[in-house]
Amino acid sequence: MEKQKRIHVVCNMCGRELKIENGLLKEDAFEAAKEWGYFSGKDLELHRFTICEKCYDKWTSSFLIPMERQAKKEVM
Ligand SMILES: [Zn+2]
Repeated sequence: MEKQKRIHVVCNMCGRELKIENGLLKEDAFEAAKEWGYFSGKDLELHRFTICEKCYDKWTSSFLIPMERQAKKEVM
């Protein structure tokens, strides 16, 4: 699959446009892609969304069990 050049990306939660330069996201955001399988009610649908950092914090703070966090020593 060819990676298409992104002109703009918006946060699915708040609708804010994220900064893009030369097709690259210039601010960090949570990008998710999920292919639902047979054992779901969404038979083989591919879902994709982007959540900006602010909305990510809001979303994850609503979790009953806090997510796992780990500090990385270096950027890969
Ligand atoms: Zn947002």
